[in-house]
Amino acid sequence: MTTTVTVVECVVCGADVELDGTTLQGELIDCDDCGCELEVASVAPFTLREAPQEAEDWGQ
Ligand SMILES: [Zn+2]
Repeated sequence: MTTTVTVVECVVCGADVELDGTTLQGELIDCDDCGCELEVASVAPFTLREAPQEAEDWGQ
């Protein structure tokens, strides 16, 4: 079985992040380059966004 790898740019540092056919929407991926957490916002096409930071204080 062939796995298609799609290369998407990290939204934080611009490094190439490889996603394959098993990647699901909402999945969290660590960028190997900057170490930040990325969320798969969409799978068709693959779109990444910076994952929400749980520790962040939004002033509530
Ligand atoms: Zn990165």
